[in-house]
Amino acid sequence: MPVTDPVADWRARAAALPLPAHAFVDGEPFAGAGERLAATSPLRDDALAELPLCDEREVDAAVAAARRAFEGGTWSQAGPRERKRVMHAFVALLEAHREELALLITLETGKPIRDALREIDSSGRELRFFAEAVDKVYGDVVPTAVEAFGYSAREPVGVVAAVTPWNFPVMMPVYKLGPALAAGNSVVLKPAEQSSLAGVRLVELGAEAGLPDGVLNAVTGTGEVTGRALGLHPDVDVLTFTGSTAVGKLFLRCSGESNMKAVWLECGGKSPQIVLADAPDLERAAAFVAEGIFHGAGEVCNAGSRLIVEESIHDDFVGLVAEAAVAWAPGDPFDEATVMGPLVDRTQFERVVDYIGVGLAEGASLARGGAPAASVELAVEPTVLTGVEPRMRVAREEIFGPVLATIKASADAVAAVANDSIFGLAAGVWTGDVRRAHRLARELDAGTVYVNTYDRGENSLPFGGYKQSGIGVDRSLHALEKYMRLKTVWFDLS
Ligand code: NAD
Repeated sequence: MPVTDPVADWRARAAALPLPAHAFVDGEPFAGAGERLAATSPLRDDALAELPLCDEREVDAAVAAARRAFEGGTWSQAGPRERKRVMHAFVALLEAHREELALLITLETGKPIRDALREIDSSGRELRFFAEAVDKVYGDVVPTAVEAFGYSAREPVGVVAAVTPWNFPVMMPVYKLGPALAAGNSVVLKPAEQSSLAGVRLVELGAEAGLPDGVLNAVTGTGEVTGRALGLHPDVDVLTFTGSTAVGKLFLRCSGESNMKAVWLECGGKSPQIVLADAPDLERAAAFVAEGIFHGAGEVCNAGSRLIVEESIHDDFVGLVAEAAVAWAPGDPFDEATVMGPLVDRTQFERVVDYIGVGLAEGASLARGGAPAASVELAVEPTVLTGVEPRMRVAREEIFGPVLATIKASADAVAAVANDSIFGLAAGVWTGDVRRAHRLARELDAGTVYVNTYDRGENSLPFGGYKQSGIGVDRSLHALEKYMRLKTVWFDLS
């Protein structure tokens, strides 16, 4: 048997991958007649493929197809058993195409193949959760006097537009279309420009699984043209978005200027990881803190990008985190041992390098990293900044890269420092005192609080942001509520 080189093998398979050059509308590939959008890769200089840059008219055609499918009722009025069968078939196809989808993610975003495979696995679990949920959400019969009968029933809302980011090219769309389809809606997905190929393939697999034509569509294009057209469309009932806070605010405005569609937002973060002196195992905590910021090269919404450490252990703990950061050295994304790859594109790379400069100019110091990686183009070394003050930009703005801003605080001040942010997505607390842990979990203004861990959970737990990190939640049965309307029915029996 010849000895195979797994890195060369992944790379060769990526090079041979058939790439979509179309959007997907009304059950078939949609070539588009106008401008094109280049699908890019941080691993290549040339474009991977060209896709349609769907304009207002083309978005309109996709929304019309979704509306026709909804009104036709083959999905929206199908019995739960049938919807469940098709959604389980969708999960099976996602799993059967695991490596193809993972390679697309790696190619488009530079995410290490190890993480891309994990993303497909967790997307499968998430989609299966909603396939299972189809027949488990009930309405209510309400208490009334004997001469009346009243109930409330849940109905699908109609046409859902989902606009998603590039950092989880399959999982973020699944967070939206899983509950939206389970509830009986039609969906038009607009994946991010940087990860449209994975988004289109996902939608194609849904059609192959048996979703009726028009129930799941993908329009490709830029945010300014294609995303905005969905935001302003008068026949979109719900706009569900994951991305930056700035664009989330634009969608709220679009809703007000058009048909008052419901807008659900999963936006940015600047999540704190708090480490108190009584934390039981500081080495373990340091490893988690490093993972919390460096996993996914920090291009993760709930990245724990602010480290708030109690004064008495500050210097020792920062030393431990700087040591733990060594394990996150950037490498070749096609190597299964690589844990951090390049950033998604040159714009993001320059933004991150620029922020490190801003932090140093504001008075922070480097405990580790601070420079572009020598061996991997567009990658940045895992970077630990110390001496950060809460007023500094590196403590307040989302960098979306492998940069940790460390703030020293007294035990009494940690919650106030953590809450001093426009964001409120997640927070981590490390302490050995169960009463303090509970108190902090209550005091922290964050949609998720992790205690003695970071970024762990189950499909059954909601995920959403407080403050300017969002409106509404993804995941769990609560996510279904975003894609259902409650109807009240009242009978007079007198
Ligand atoms: P982004 O806001 O730039 O883009 C997200 C989507 O919005 C893309 O599809 C894009 O094409 C579209 N868009 C951009 N400008 C638009 C406009 N003017 N009108 C309409 N649509 C527009 O975000 P990104 O750079 O793709 O992703 C990174 C951001 O996403 C970070 O802020 C991150 O925190 C956030 N995010 C949040 C979560 C969460 O669950 N809270 C998860 C992942 C990412």
